[in-house]
Amino acid sequence: MRPRELSPTLSMFAARVPTLPPATHTNCYALGGRDVLLVEAVASDTGEQRAYLEWARAFGSQGRKLVAIVTTHHHPDHIAGLDVLARTLGVGVWVHDATYERLAASAQAVVTRRLCDGDEIILDGVRPETWKVLITPGHAPGHVCLHEPEARTLVVGDMVASVGTILIAPSDGDVQKYIFSLERLAGLDAALALPSHGEPIDEPTALFLKYIAHREKREKIIYEAVAACGPRGGTVAELVAASYSGTPMHLWPLAELTLKAHLVKLVREGRVLSFEHEREPSALPGTANVASVANARSVSARFRVV
Ligand SMILES: [Zn+2]
Repeated sequence: MRPRELSPTLSMFAARVPTLPPATHTNCYALGGRDVLLVEAVASDTGEQRAYLEWARAFGSQGRKLVAIVTTHHHPDHIAGLDVLARTLGVGVWVHDATYERLAASAQAVVTRRLCDGDEIILDGVRPETWKVLITPGHAPGHVCLHEPEARTLVVGDMVASVGTILIAPSDGDVQKYIFSLERLAGLDAALALPSHGEPIDEPTALFLKYIAHREKREKIIYEAVAACGPRGGTVAELVAASYSGTPMHLWPLAELTLKAHLVKLVREGRVLSFEHEREPSALPGTANVASVANARSVSARFRVV
C-alpha cells in the first residue's frame, strides 16, 4: 500500500506527478488524530485520483473528519487535480493570497480560506494539535509551512527536499526571501520535517543551515564570475558557463534560472550592475533593472560588478 502511517496521527501519500527530476512524486500528508487536515491534494491522472480519494476517504470510515486541504504553493506539481479532488471530497482548500492569485478559476472556486502568517489550525483528537501557519516566500510567493511546536514537527513543502533540488526561479522565486525563510525555519528547532519531495527529515535544522550555506556559496561563485568579466561585463550565457563549469551541460537551462535569481538579488543590493550592450551602465540599481534581469531574454544584457 502506498499510504504510509508515519504515526497514529500522521499519514503520508506520495502522489505520482510530473515534477522536477529526479523527484517523481509529491508527498501529501494527513495531520491530526480525529480532525484531519490534508496537506496537498494532487492527482495527475484518473488512476492517481482514485488512489488519493481512497486514502483520503479512509479517514472518514475510521470516524475521523476531514477539515480542509492546505495547498503549500501554486506550482503545477502541487495543484494538479486539486479542484476535482476537493470537490469530490467536499472539503475546502486553504491557501495564502499569493497562491490564490495564481490559481486557475476552477481551483479558486474551491478555496474557502486565506491563510495568514501566525494563523493557528486546531485539530481535535486524543491529543489536540495546534498547527501554526508560517508564510515562507522564496521558492514561491505564497509558500506556506505548518509548524506543531509541541511535537516539533514542520510541514516544509518545497523549502527543502530530501530528493532533488529546490529551484529558485526568477519568475516567482526570490533568493533573498528564500534565505530569510530558511533562517526562520532553522530557528524553530524542529525534530521532524515533512517535505513535498523525498523522505521525512529527522533533525532538519542542520539541513536548513546547509541550504543557506549552499545559496551563499553559489552567490559567491556567481559574483566572482561577474567580477572576472571586468568592466565589459558578462552575458547570462557567459556567466552560466563560468559559474557552472562543474555541472553537466544538460542542467544549464535550470542553472540559468538560478543564476538569474541570484543576479536579481545582487542587482537589488547594488553590488552588480546590469546594462545593455553599447549603452552606458545605469548608475543606480532599481526596480526597472531588477525586472530586466528576471525577464532577461535579450542576449545583449550584460552584468558587471559595481
Ligand atoms: Zn514548487
